[in-house]
Amino acid sequence: MKAAVFHGPRDVRFEEVPTPTLQDGEALIKVHACGICGSDLHTYRHGLFLGLGLPTETGRILGHEFSGEIVETKGDVQTVKVGDRVTTVGMGANAEYFKVAPRMVPSISQLPDHISFAEAATSEPLATSLHAVNLAAPSDEQTLVVMGMGIIGLGVVQAIRALCRARIIAVDLSDKRLEMATQLGADVTFNAGREDAVSKISELTGSGQLSLVEAPVSRVDTVFDCAGAPRDFSGTSVLEQALSLVTQNGKVVVVAVFEKALEIDHNVIVRKGIQLLGSWAWSPQEFAQSLEMITSGKVDRKPLITHEFSLEDASEAYETQLNAEAAIKVMLRP
Ligand SMILES: [Zn+2]
Repeated sequence: MKAAVFHGPRDVRFEEVPTPTLQDGEALIKVHACGICGSDLHTYRHGLFLGLGLPTETGRILGHEFSGEIVETKGDVQTVKVGDRVTTVGMGANAEYFKVAPRMVPSISQLPDHISFAEAATSEPLATSLHAVNLAAPSDEQTLVVMGMGIIGLGVVQAIRALCRARIIAVDLSDKRLEMATQLGADVTFNAGREDAVSKISELTGSGQLSLVEAPVSRVDTVFDCAGAPRDFSGTSVLEQALSLVTQNGKVVVVAVFEKALEIDHNVIVRKGIQLLGSWAWSPQEFAQSLEMITSGKVDRKPLITHEFSLEDASEAYETQLNAEAAIKVMLRP
């Protein structure tokens, strides 16, 4: 079968690899759409998180946000049949076919006909966003700041909007992404390349200073860090900004990953009683809920899909996804 194989940083090659053969209880999906994830990009850029790729003889096949059609099952498989349109989770979907192990077959989700394969392939990153939002447990009267308008940050905006009427302030360095945030339900957006995020948000929400161990506070109930820090980062990190912005006893939910360790003022966390929450992946219920949000129309993921490439052009697809100004979600169409 055809596959895009990762060989090393900035080196993804279109190759022929063996087509998986099925054992009893397994199912084979013909992949129709597979999104390039932020974690795939950390691998693509620097060779990080290699464990998220499926090993082959020559390298690793990336890709875990996908959908497709069941083309074969073997032995006693009850929950899916040939011809079903489906989405599921697993690694190595930058390929023509994806084999689902017996213990994973029951968790394959069926897709209604009105949902495209590309939309369905965005349910995994939406579940990641939803998990972060569920950790924050937002309510109507709150003010929330979302920093970083990549696919996860934009999904956080969408998930908040689907669940409540909280005021959403969205921050990014790309005007194009900020326009998208407004379209998806953010109340206020601004470009942190042109305005200082902490002073701008303090001005928007009101701010103060705690005494004894001095710490600044703004009227922000939760800050989502969907930006992290790239390897070449220097200056004031988004996490540092988030910790200084959030209100006393507020939450900072970190859903980004960091390519380097940061220095932060830990006393701010202690003095303000911040709940600093790491957000990783999602529960099976959240995956199902995110798919339901898409199929019911509560969340529209179509505007986020900015590019589609064939598997042959995987290298160009990865380079395009690296370009934050041009691309939001790049889809491979094997
Ligand atoms: Zn992902």
